[in-house]
Amino acid sequence: MNAQAQNLINGEWTGAGDVARENPARPGEIAVVSPRSDRATLNTAIEAAGAAQTGWAALPLPARGAILLRAGELLAQRREAVAEDLVREEGKLRGEALGEVTRASDVLRFFGGLGWAASGEVLPSGLPDTVITTRREPLGVFGLITPWNFPIAIPAWKSAPALLSGNSVVLKPAELTPMSVNHLARALQDAGLPAGVLNIVNGRGSEIGDGLARDERIAGLSFTGSTGVGLGLHQILSARRARVQLEMGGKNAVLVLDDADPAAAARVVAAGAFGLTGQACTATSRVYVTPGIRAAFLRELTALAEGYRPGDGLEEGVSMGVVVSEAQRDGDLAAIRGAVSRGATLAAGSTEARGQAVSATVLTDIAADDPAVTEEIFGPVVAVLPVGSYEEGLAAVNNSRYGLTAGICTDSLSLATHFTENVRAGVVKVNRPTAGLDLNVPFGGIRDSSTNTFREQGRGALEFYTWGKTVYTGR
Ligand code: NAD
Repeated sequence: MNAQAQNLINGEWTGAGDVARENPARPGEIAVVSPRSDRATLNTAIEAAGAAQTGWAALPLPARGAILLRAGELLAQRREAVAEDLVREEGKLRGEALGEVTRASDVLRFFGGLGWAASGEVLPSGLPDTVITTRREPLGVFGLITPWNFPIAIPAWKSAPALLSGNSVVLKPAELTPMSVNHLARALQDAGLPAGVLNIVNGRGSEIGDGLARDERIAGLSFTGSTGVGLGLHQILSARRARVQLEMGGKNAVLVLDDADPAAAARVVAAGAFGLTGQACTATSRVYVTPGIRAAFLRELTALAEGYRPGDGLEEGVSMGVVVSEAQRDGDLAAIRGAVSRGATLAAGSTEARGQAVSATVLTDIAADDPAVTEEIFGPVVAVLPVGSYEEGLAAVNNSRYGLTAGICTDSLSLATHFTENVRAGVVKVNRPTAGLDLNVPFGGIRDSSTNTFREQGRGALEFYTWGKTVYTGR
């Protein structure tokens, strides 16, 4: 039985199954059907969000937090079923999906708990008998646009701080993964979120996403997705001086130095490159290696890559999920074949796929300006390049239009410290995979990876969803 995703508008589940989404691991099996909404439906959702916002913001902060806490609890109770739907629509491993649903539930609980802790400042005044305080106020209605690769965690980490802060929300999920967001919204609704505070509108990016960005009633927009779409949205939002947060592409690099343990470095790179089928914005896709460790590191990495068994994430023994769509598979293969045709060596992997199962692929003997080294692929593909020294490696890591995450594998505290201070990336990992962050830390990049302003996740996420007010009180 396929799942039915719907719109949630003013507390009502509506919309037909206009669009059928096939399970990426089982061709012909419909995983979920969802509505393809029009602008009139979007308009109703924005109206509902606008009408509900003031009442929601009037609730005490701990009462708003309590709803998030309850929703987190409900999602945790439902995690097995939610994870199974997530695998069917997105294709990752069951274990990865369970981890993602748990993350979404923990994010709700983290922000729910802040209902008792979010606070302003008390500042001294130069005037007598005067107290200055700062407050954070909600902006109104937020638009959220989310991608398919973390179909429940990203909607959770955007909507939780938006809602806790007293905003209402209109969320547009990715077309490929509509069901996961339905589960998130149901948990919030069942936890007591008032009608209209969170609205879900399914549909095309160019229709519903674009409509959200252009609507004057949307006070701010948070987007995660590709750099091209994000930069277009930035122009629209900036033109009407609305708040905008973009999390976009990455081309994340790891520098492996001679003094690292080759096996440990290979495990760090493989986890970053092939975990989540490489479909993470923080995935490792470039590796620079100094001469003394190159042969041993490549041997270890190749062995690890060859050990992956890609396939249906719900099957026992499968160790890497399928890629999300035929288009994504074709893009991955085009990048691999293109590099090979220009002279790169396929140290591990294949130029062919089995259905949507793409092999864990390692490219060597590849030019530094090959598109497989410079452009985001968003699949289980990593390029390994030689560098002569630490300095050359640091320069190579920084030579990118992106700047999301970066890593170094070394035993040298001094070089690790120099790297963390000089690398141009929003998140730096020493001896840890570039992918994977805790829920309480700021997340975001620089250059073409992010808006370079507000960070997501952790306590700091509340700043994007609020504006600051300074209050003088005299007596
Ligand atoms: P995408 O840009 O195609 O789509 C993302 C969302 O934007 C979807 O909901 C889509 O419907 C919507 N959209 C598409 N066109 C639109 C338009 N013209 N106006 C408004 N909305 C529109 O990206 P995707 O393929 O879903 O996701 C993969 C991309 O997301 C990768 O580039 C990846 O790096 C990026 N990503 C970034 C992060 C991060 O935090 N930096 C996290 C996950 C994914």
